[in-house]
Amino acid sequence: MRRKLSFLAEASKILSSSLDYNKTLSSIADLVVNNIADFCIIDLLKDDGTMHRVAVKIKSPKQSKLANQMYRFPPDPKNKDAIYECAQQEKPILIRKATKKWLDSVSLLEKEHEVIRKLRLNSHIFVPLKSRGRVIGVLTFASQNPRFSYKASDLLLAEELANRSGIAVDNARLYSEAQDAIQARDEFLSIASHELKTPLTSILLHLQTVLSRIRRKSSAEYGDYRIGRMLESTERQTKKLAKLINDLLNISIVSTGRLHLDKERVSLGEIVEDVIDRFKIQLQQEEYSFDLHIDRKVVGKWDKVRIEQIVSNLLSNAIKYGEKRPIHIVVKRRNHTAQLVVQDEGIGIDPKRSKEIFGRFKRGVSNRDYSGLGVGLYISKQIAEAHGGKIKLNTIPKRGSTFTVELPLKSS
Ligand code: ADP
Repeated sequence: MRRKLSFLAEASKILSSSLDYNKTLSSIADLVVNNIADFCIIDLLKDDGTMHRVAVKIKSPKQSKLANQMYRFPPDPKNKDAIYECAQQEKPILIRKATKKWLDSVSLLEKEHEVIRKLRLNSHIFVPLKSRGRVIGVLTFASQNPRFSYKASDLLLAEELANRSGIAVDNARLYSEAQDAIQARDEFLSIASHELKTPLTSILLHLQTVLSRIRRKSSAEYGDYRIGRMLESTERQTKKLAKLINDLLNISIVSTGRLHLDKERVSLGEIVEDVIDRFKIQLQQEEYSFDLHIDRKVVGKWDKVRIEQIVSNLLSNAIKYGEKRPIHIVVKRRNHTAQLVVQDEGIGIDPKRSKEIFGRFKRGVSNRDYSGLGVGLYISKQIAEAHGGKIKLNTIPKRGSTFTVELPLKSS
């Protein structure tokens, strides 16, 4: 009894150690042939009610080639199969001795009889694998000892093992399905955001051309152009949309591990100035004042486009959450790192949440008050870390936030 209990405890430990589907199946087969049988088969039920053979294992490595032939004979309902019977009745079956009569009654395939005879499989136990109240497959095991037969008391142990195994297999299957679904979602996001971006880029370009022509008119004339105001608002909304789409695209790139860096020697200060230029009109329209202390000589080997993304995310957050108070931007060298500091005097963040907001889809504000997807900081952090750097945050609620990006100056 003690041995049985310690076997089951060990089995639980091994089965809960992995969510990998194939590893779980192979652990179950190993557990069986190392502890309670010489031979083991696992068959799982498919959605259409048929079964497929997913594992065959024999204790003696010399016989594994022969044992693997059992993959050729998956359970077949036409065969009055013991495995199907076990799955249907949802109860274990004990065969004390594999007589010829029994073999004839469970398989019509002479070739299968031959393999079983050669393997000298004798006493058998068939036990249903169950999870969440339903049968998901059958675990079969057999002894090769002609003088040994399983007893009724062995059925209990087999059932206990099958229950643990069923849950482990089911969890691994669900996990793998969830992973597939996540991958499909990320791929969809990536394609969808690409597709959405193309027309938007052209709309924005046209808008900006029209706007710049209108702006070149005299101020009196421009004042009359209510259309100019409308266009400006359309441009703002289009930019917002472009940012949302970019965020979607980037989240799929980061989540699928496709973040590749194209490094070149660039000046952090110049990158920051470029990005600020792009925000200039918005900053003026929204009456933001900002002061800059930028050292253009801070140069390193970084991916320009990705660093621009960090700057653009931090700056748009400072505008969004900055309550129209001044924004301070500093680029400087500090020991062996390049530092970018973006400081606002806005709503700030509860310091208890200052780690959490760097998580995927994590937001510290409600959608009613501020629009956003909660991915900007996540992406920025991933980009900084991919460069061997980091992002730090100092914040006081209602007083403002300071984000400091640190990038190594000597990067590989
Ligand atoms: P989003 O702004 O779309 O929500 P982010 O990932 O950029 O996504 O930011 C995550 C959260 O961090 C925001 O929802 C907000 O609560 C908080 N946050 C980011 N930047 C600032 C800032 N400058 N001031 C106050 N809160 C901020």
